[in-house]
Amino acid sequence: METAAPFEPSEILLLGPGPSPVASSVLRAQALPVLGHLDSEFVALMDRVQDGLRAVFGTRNRFTLPISGTGSAGMEACLTNVVEPGDRVVVGVHGVFGGRIADLAARLGAEVVRVEALFGSALDEAAMAAAIAAGPTRLVCFVHAETSTGVLQPCERIVAAAREADALVLADCVTSLGGLDLGADARGFDLVYSGTQKCLSVPPGLAPVTVSDRALERIRARRSRVPSWYFDFALLAGYWDAETSRAYHHTAPVSMVYGLHEGLRLVLEEGLEDRARRHRQAAERLYAGLDVLGLECVVVEPRLRTPMLTSVRIPDGVQDLEVRRCLRRDHHIEIGGGLGSLAGRAWRIGLMGEGARAEVVDRLIEALGACLGRA
Ligand SMILES: *Cc1c(COP(=O)(O)O)cnc(C)c1O
Repeated sequence: METAAPFEPSEILLLGPGPSPVASSVLRAQALPVLGHLDSEFVALMDRVQDGLRAVFGTRNRFTLPISGTGSAGMEACLTNVVEPGDRVVVGVHGVFGGRIADLAARLGAEVVRVEALFGSALDEAAMAAAIAAGPTRLVCFVHAETSTGVLQPCERIVAAAREADALVLADCVTSLGGLDLGADARGFDLVYSGTQKCLSVPPGLAPVTVSDRALERIRARRSRVPSWYFDFALLAGYWDAETSRAYHHTAPVSMVYGLHEGLRLVLEEGLEDRARRHRQAAERLYAGLDVLGLECVVVEPRLRTPMLTSVRIPDGVQDLEVRRCLRRDHHIEIGGGLGSLAGRAWRIGLMGEGARAEVVDRLIEALGACLGRA
């Protein structure tokens, strides 16, 4: 290891599927003096972070807190607390992250019912409803904004079918949170997890989650113990819940919590509606720019596109890696490659949080045109 010089990363414009560009005030917040994780000043900050998360999630759930870890830790925490061996769990799989949920549920011993759709399409809500009604379902899972494909999943009918069957609803909102007006309570979601590194524009490291009272009751009524100590919601509540004695569980990642607080402050200062509109407008500008370059979106129907992440078909004869290397080397821009069945066939462009701005889109389109020789 080179120890003589401190590390100095390049300034790269992050327009992939995450991490997203971080506001400078968030970076400054993370450089502030570290407090003890049980210090009264830090505890007061925890309360503010929880209030901010409730506002951005659109929930009144008391159990709303950031799990230590990235978005996947939020996924693992939610599933581990709610799933018991033998439970029937219906999982919509229309991208890589739905597949990851199904894998996790199977590892926890669930009887997993997969409802699949082609990558780039939305889940068929009627097919989800039929699968939910076909047996005693405990949990219904789907990804709200599939970052692997760019699909925004319509979910009213899925949630209604779950309610009808008295099943809990788990929604992966890793990319939705902070990029659209989520309204988790109004949508009827029981367990929602997200990540700091997508539309909240905070570095990777925390996974905000919110859990309904209904879901907490089911968890309390489990036949078996939650098979994780680190992610056990009851133990985490013993540290995060303002009504408890704030018992030490694990050391909170103090500087990450500072960063999340500042990120949430910026979201709420802008306002959820204005922020959602900014993401939509940036996406519209991107579609127009791609069109000029002769590039096509993977998700054909505009109403099914999630504004925060656009998958773009790589034209025949164009080398995926060459173009991405050109963007990084000559233009200091990162975009993502395809995942799963879209690997090598699509690029993924994220306009998330700080990245969802007209001038950013213009810079990208110009650079992409130059790298494709189509400028
Ligand atoms: C990024 C992402 C995840 C995983 O989050 P990590 O921070 O990479 O652990 C899960 N689901 C979706 C929809 C995502 O976009």
